[in-house]
Amino acid sequence: MINETMYARGAESSVIREIFSYGLERKAQIGADKVFDFSLGNPSVPAPAAVRASIERALELPSDQLHGYTPAPGLPEARTAVAESLNRRFGTSYTMGDVFMTVGAAASVSMTVHALTNPGEEVIVIAPYFPEYAVWIEKAGATCVEVLADQETFQVDPAAVAAAITPRTAAVIIDSPNNPTGAVYTRATLEALVDVLRAANEGREQPIFLISDEPYREIVYGAEVPWVPSIYEHTVVCYSYSKSLSLPGERVGWVLVPNTCPLATRVMAAVAGAARTLGFVCAPALFQRVVADCVDEPSDVAAYARNREALTRALSEYGYTYVEPDGAFYLWVKALEDDAEAFCERAKAYELLPVPSNSFGVPGWFRLGYCIDYDVIVASLPAWKKLAEEYGV
Ligand code: PLP
Repeated sequence: MINETMYARGAESSVIREIFSYGLERKAQIGADKVFDFSLGNPSVPAPAAVRASIERALELPSDQLHGYTPAPGLPEARTAVAESLNRRFGTSYTMGDVFMTVGAAASVSMTVHALTNPGEEVIVIAPYFPEYAVWIEKAGATCVEVLADQETFQVDPAAVAAAITPRTAAVIIDSPNNPTGAVYTRATLEALVDVLRAANEGREQPIFLISDEPYREIVYGAEVPWVPSIYEHTVVCYSYSKSLSLPGERVGWVLVPNTCPLATRVMAAVAGAARTLGFVCAPALFQRVVADCVDEPSDVAAYARNREALTRALSEYGYTYVEPDGAFYLWVKALEDDAEAFCERAKAYELLPVPSNSFGVPGWFRLGYCIDYDVIVASLPAWKKLAEEYGV
């Protein structure tokens, strides 16, 4: 029998993908240069040259190495490269045993949620949040509990998290630099959140885990991105190279279960079990080799910084209110009417394609992905101005 939950998930598709498809249709109708698509987080910055060089080297390998299965947790050289890179950056002493290579951050988070929750338990997410979290949590049989971020700063609100914790809370997912707000959680915020978790852990059989989803870690505009496991030992880190190396279609990332986590051995086994259960046999072999070679390649943040500057300067001049983004490549902007979906529909008349905040669990805002060509951003500005004028701003 067809599974009705799966059917519904497939039939509804994601709002972001729908907007993206609409944009493609519109581009075919009126020309690509006349449509301003801010919907997807698909990096416009090219992958570093080192990625291509690594692929070319790998092509010389015998077929069974180039195309063969890797061990389930990944190639030792990729896992070792990841661990050593983290050690250099954060003064840790991880080894390849702490790293499980994955099919991107989607797999990393989905596996970790499955590894750390049981049916009937709860996972706290900080709203607005990456919409797939709710899908993965539900698939694990757990309940997604939305806790609003601080509405001024969009930092985690530790008191609100404290109020949402119950004996069934298994984990909290954080995402910093944040999609969709661009907020980067400060050390003070993280320490306050950890105080809440430690207090809640008193007398519990197992601690509440922190799942730190960090695909945008390197994309910051000067802010510190604290290393979360050094603040809270019950942290599992999820990562991918989709954003930092501009490789979203290649599907490669990792889960780190730090050896400083008191339950590390059991958690890592559960992560491996979740990968097996979910059918993630191994991460793409070629791109594990690329990771081994390119783990320390810098991200081209300058291009995103230029886009951010152009967009924020213009939107503030036109009267839009937004959250100053410290990281990632998204701008979180207040809709000019209460109904964000209606606002985004109206924006379409100007060929502007933002994503309404309802998809991220809150009303009244919209998200702009500014990981697009600078020229598209500049060309879109008169349309943003006219839209604001239509609202009398
Ligand atoms: N987590 C967050 C916060 C994201 O923004 C994304 C993708 O946009 C993912 C996870 C999934 O990343 P990946 O494409 O590496 O699976």
